[in-house]
Amino acid sequence: NDLASLMNISVNEVISMCMTLGMFVSINQRLDAEAITVIADEFGYTAEFTSSEEEVEVVEETDEEGDLTERAPIVTIMGHVDHGKTSLLDFIRNSKVTEGEAGGITQHIGAYDVTTDSGKRIAFLDTPGHEAFTAMRARGAKVTDVVIIVVAADDSVMPQTKEALNHAQVAGVPIVIAINKIDKPTANPDKIKEELANMNVLVEDWGGKYQCQEISAKTGQGINDLLEKVLLEAELLELKANADKKAVGTVIEAELDKGRGYVTTVLVQSGTLRIGDVVLAGAHYGRVKAMFDHRGNKIKNAGPSTPVQMLGFDGAPQAGDKLNGMENEREAREFANKREQILREQNIRTKKHITLDEIGRRLAIGSFKELNIIVKGDVDGSVEALSDSLLKLSTDEVQVNIISKAVGQISESDVLLASASDAVIVGFQVRPSNGARKLAENEEIEIRLYSIIYDAINDVKDAMEGMLAPTV
Ligand code: GDP
Repeated sequence: NDLASLMNISVNEVISMCMTLGMFVSINQRLDAEAITVIADEFGYTAEFTSSEEEVEVVEETDEEGDLTERAPIVTIMGHVDHGKTSLLDFIRNSKVTEGEAGGITQHIGAYDVTTDSGKRIAFLDTPGHEAFTAMRARGAKVTDVVIIVVAADDSVMPQTKEALNHAQVAGVPIVIAINKIDKPTANPDKIKEELANMNVLVEDWGGKYQCQEISAKTGQGINDLLEKVLLEAELLELKANADKKAVGTVIEAELDKGRGYVTTVLVQSGTLRIGDVVLAGAHYGRVKAMFDHRGNKIKNAGPSTPVQMLGFDGAPQAGDKLNGMENEREAREFANKREQILREQNIRTKKHITLDEIGRRLAIGSFKELNIIVKGDVDGSVEALSDSLLKLSTDEVQVNIISKAVGQISESDVLLASASDAVIVGFQVRPSNGARKLAENEEIEIRLYSIIYDAINDVKDAMEGMLAPTV
């Protein structure tokens, strides 16, 4: 209605144009910027937006090739529960505290960094598990260069091992396998390697591309070698950053401390964060009053790949929020206010997730190339059959990708993966858990449930032809 009156055209004309474009809209429907641009264009107008997303994104300084220097890798540890993720993180953290270092007691600040025996630095995210990793990714934050996947040698490749492998692969992050608990008499690393090979994860000493190290998070055996393998993997990535500019980073966690105010753990990714800098993250800003490393030592500046705990924000930004060093307080405040306003308007949708209904519209405006699907089913046979049939629906215009397929209930981890990869979840003879259902609502992820394979295939096929009748 608003758009029609702006263009001085009848609402019916606008609605029927929308139909022609494959959008089924009502008179009061909110349209996104993309749709408005296309519709306006059809009527000979050019749409301009006053409060667009660009306006709340900080324009960052560009880097010249000569400004870039090597930076340390950022690592996340994943794996099945009880396979030793926390023990490995703890061992690494504690064994790398140099003798006589001040503030020997390490604190959990969400991230830490260590210097290996070969003198190279590695930063670790201290929230083990693929859920945290994928939740960050779903918020648009890319904070992991290499993933370590821990598998207990006295156990097997388990469902969460598979999920972790899958999530890391979908994210395109290189993986190093750590076969843990080899101190145990029942340890059987070859069995693990074989199970991995059965999933197409072939380790290096079996002629594959995955580096693998046998370790014990209890005795420390093999851990230095594991870290060297991580560094080798990082070397291939040629990780570089410009340390000589305003800081750019990601918020890892934030909390209100009674005595100190808002305490925010930030991973600086490029540039340098200094005491006194003005910073912006989400809808919050402030001036850096103090910074600490994970041992509680005061530090004055933090360069690329350095986790720090900082004081000075006027509130608690969310984990995954981007942090930007700003020119001055006035500029930071303007950004924060504008973001706050958008948040209040419930207009925060950085990107609307795909639904089958939405495909027709995106096809019409030519912005749709790939359909990502997660398949969950009750038995292996149906999961495979459904996945194969869906894959075969790929056309010249739209490629169907099955980014994950597994037997079992639809879990929160599936929803997070869908959110991070803009995917639709198709369940066959399974239901989402309560947690997954709630998360899917919040994240606006479409879950489609079927009890007949043929129906699932038909719906996706219709959607891809822009023919799916809208659900009311
Ligand atoms: P997480 O759930 O993956 O974080 O696993 P934890 O680190 O909590 O470890 C689960 C259990 O396995 C704990 O009781 C640990 O003490 C034990 N554990 C972890 N690593 C090793 C290891 O290398 N050897 C032995 N023997 N036990 C280990």
